Amino acid sequence: MIAIVGGGIAGLAAARRLRANGREVTVYEAGGDEALGGLARTYPTGGDDVEQFYHHLSKSEEEIVELAEELGVGDRLEWLVGKNAYYVDGVVHPLDTAWQILAYPHMSVYDKFRLGMLTLEIDVRGGVPAFDTYDDLADFEDVPIKQFLLDHTTRGVYENFFEPLLDAKFGSRRDDVSAAWLLGRVKFRGERDLLRGEILGYFDGGFAPVIDALVDDVGSAHIETNARVTGLDTDDGAVSSITVSQDGETRTEAVDDVVVATMPNVLEDLTGYVCDIDFQGAVCAVATMNEPLTDTYWLNIAHDAPFGALIEHTNFVPPERYGGDHLLYVASYVQSDDEWLATADDAAVEERWLGHVADMFPEFDRDAVSEFRVARAPRAAPIYERGYLDLVVPYDLADEVADGVYYAGMASEAQYPERSLNGGVVAGYECADRILDD
Ligand SMILES: Cc1cc2nc3c(=O)[nH]c(=O)nc-3n(C[C@H](O)[C@H](O)[C@H](O)COP(=O)(O)OP(=O)(O)OC[C@H]3O[C@@H](n4cnc5c(N)ncnc54)[C@H](O)[C@@H]3O)c2cc1C
Repeated sequence: MIAIVGGGIAGLAAARRLRANGREVTVYEAGGDEALGGLARTYPTGGDDVEQFYHHLSKSEEEIVELAEELGVGDRLEWLVGKNAYYVDGVVHPLDTAWQILAYPHMSVYDKFRLGMLTLEIDVRGGVPAFDTYDDLADFEDVPIKQFLLDHTTRGVYENFFEPLLDAKFGSRRDDVSAAWLLGRVKFRGERDLLRGEILGYFDGGFAPVIDALVDDVGSAHIETNARVTGLDTDDGAVSSITVSQDGETRTEAVDDVVVATMPNVLEDLTGYVCDIDFQGAVCAVATMNEPLTDTYWLNIAHDAPFGALIEHTNFVPPERYGGDHLLYVASYVQSDDEWLATADDAAVEERWLGHVADMFPEFDRDAVSEFRVARAPRAAPIYERGYLDLVVPYDLADEVADGVYYAGMASEAQYPERSLNGGVVAGYECADRILDD
């Protein structure tokens, strides 16, 4: 039997591929049925369920689209415009179309030209355009992101465009991030319609129909929930059994292979394999409102706010799908366990965050918010620091741990340069294929 530790998308994708090839598989998920899907888990609303943590797809992500098609839910995928804007000094500046970018007052025309060239991957330093400077990301793996941006664009681009974004994404760790990560993100970025804005994918009904179809495909007989894997034993250099705690009882299951599809700290607990990647946590709230706050989907904030971004989901997917309610994500990453956000209770987070929203938007009416649900993930995203690719956990841990031990979690290579559901599918498949090859 092949044991899969974790019922997120990576574990479920691995299980699907192994089952499709006739292997006996059991997925062990520590949480209840509602935890299947992991970080893509959802809340009920007045209509469709909505993800607890904001999710969308980029045009460059193909495996999850193929998976949805195979599962019979591909026709639910919609490519929608996700409007972006920047909040500076009390003003929301839309930044979607070429005209809006030209009209943005906080960068000079030359800054915009240099930013545009970088996003087109054209190196214009020295006056003669070079088209291959950014081809090999390895060249930039050890280059600090700030130094890179100052060298390859302008101080104005760094300070007025990238610095607030990096602050929101990596907080106090922003200076540790590598230029290779930024260039990887530029390549990863999907499609931008210069007349309308960024094109992002979302399923009619959200990601729940995809996860549900995947769970059905794997089969409930092959998935155990409330089943935490707490131990892994080896015999003669190969994995032999796992320990499972379920419903207050602990038992041992003999296994041929194990795919660990969780954060790397679980891999370390089970096998002793130490992954040196630092993770940041996330606190993400969904405010249910009876009116919209803005007309933007993704609002970046260029000042010291207690949250990183305001993501108004119902400016991306129509509110009619949620019983007419407007849904606003208020979200922040957490870098350390002792910062205020890591320890504040939900009521305190609501008070501080909505209070700040009211400061930013004087017309915002607190009574418009009928519900404020807070989700927390202690490990939500890696810090893509310099030398990151040397730290990723290999899919096959035969040399590092024991034969038959595989890793498909967020510290795998598929989750670079951005962790995503698509990356989870790829990591699950990579492990499954290695098991099938063996
Ligand atoms: C704030 C935020 C925003 C995001 N936005 C996007 C986005 O827009 N687009 C996108 O594609 N992706 C997005 N992601 C990333 C995406 O959610 C993840 O990359 C993906 O869900 C990871 O899947 P996974 O299966 O590797 O891990 P997880 O989803 O973390 O699943 C791991 C599972 O393992 C279980 N588990 C842990 N320990 C054990 C154990 N000992 N025994 C058994 N089970 C265990 C956990 O309960 C969990 O269900 C976002 C994530 C966050 C946090």
